[in-house]
Amino acid sequence: MAEIRLEKLTKHFDEVRAVDGLDLVAEHGSFIALLGPSGCGKTTTMNMIAGLERPTAGEIYFDDFPVSGLGPEKRSVGFVFQNYAIFTHMTVYENLAFGLRMRKPRPPKDEIDREVRAVARTVGLSEQLERRVTRLSVNDLQKAALGRSMIVRPAIFLLDEPFSNLDASFRAYMRAELKRIQHEIGQTMVYVTHDQVEAMGMADRIAVMDRGQLQQYGTPDELYNRPENRFVANFIGSVLNNFLPVVPEASGAGVVVRVTGTGSKPIDVSDRKVPLAERAGAGLPLTLMVRPEKVRLVGPDADEALVRGSITAIEPLGATDVIHLRLDGADIRSVARPDAPLRVGDNVGIAFEAADVHLFDDETEHAIR
Ligand code: ATP
Repeated sequence: MAEIRLEKLTKHFDEVRAVDGLDLVAEHGSFIALLGPSGCGKTTTMNMIAGLERPTAGEIYFDDFPVSGLGPEKRSVGFVFQNYAIFTHMTVYENLAFGLRMRKPRPPKDEIDREVRAVARTVGLSEQLERRVTRLSVNDLQKAALGRSMIVRPAIFLLDEPFSNLDASFRAYMRAELKRIQHEIGQTMVYVTHDQVEAMGMADRIAVMDRGQLQQYGTPDELYNRPENRFVANFIGSVLNNFLPVVPEASGAGVVVRVTGTGSKPIDVSDRKVPLAERAGAGLPLTLMVRPEKVRLVGPDADEALVRGSITAIEPLGATDVIHLRLDGADIRSVARPDAPLRVGDNVGIAFEAADVHLFDDETEHAIR
């Protein structure tokens, strides 16, 4: 086990700031995800942790020991990549045993055998040990790649989109398996993905990156319920999130917002701090975000309806339906049970709680709490 600490970690490729002043701590035995869109610098960060890429500036510490000057072989890091690091001419057994056989001094045969069988059990390949890897399914191939990295017990485990070649149901299975394995072996894991569902489901903490910079580092719950900026709010969530322009207004001692151009009822946001009151005075616009699963559909004339809209499409996802709604000047989405009596063209009232409203400054894109 080891703690990983990144301090002002930076990598430039000529003009491109692939990673820009990244500060991050992955505690001993924790499972963290690097999450962000393509090109945000996830892989470059991973390669620097592994020692495959030298930082332009900043430092990486493993348990307070600076490692930037060390080659990859000196770092006790195990990798699993999207392209399986597997020897295709060997059996599963030989692949698993490889890391131990390369050790100097080489461990005794029976010890290697014990370890190979234990790891095969952990990753679920006990029945396949004598198979050549060319005869394995894509799914088992990735299990073999995982087992091969695990067997040498690296202090740190790095996984770069390891499941992206797997089919959807097996990917879900492997996510749960990996979480179980991580819990069992207790090693620090860093997992790179652009898939927020994957990150949210597995990681203890997630580092959301955009254009080489850290946007927020927090637990799945923090990212979902307390996004620090508009980018994070938008990136987290399985259905396209709802962003609406609003104008703050002073109301008695407090502040309310109304959705622009829809004749909306006021939403009391007096619990949000300082800049709101100033903004209300100046009438400066803000952006409101409410997650689709927090939007309720009620009768168009119901008291709780904040705005009215109409249903433009219903997208069935199986367990739920995504309801697409048009307001006066904006489109939003809600989530409903498939048996809800809703039809395209229905006029509905749209309700949500003030507590579920996130507000963002239009200039800085930071959350106003
Ligand atoms: P993806 O999910 O597509 O792999 P990523 O988030 O892992 O994306 P990186 O691969 O780290 O992003 O790339 C970050 C930026 O650095 C991109 O703009 C990329 O084009 C650039 N980059 C990465 N490696 C190099 C390189 N060897 N030479 C030049 N530019 C590079």
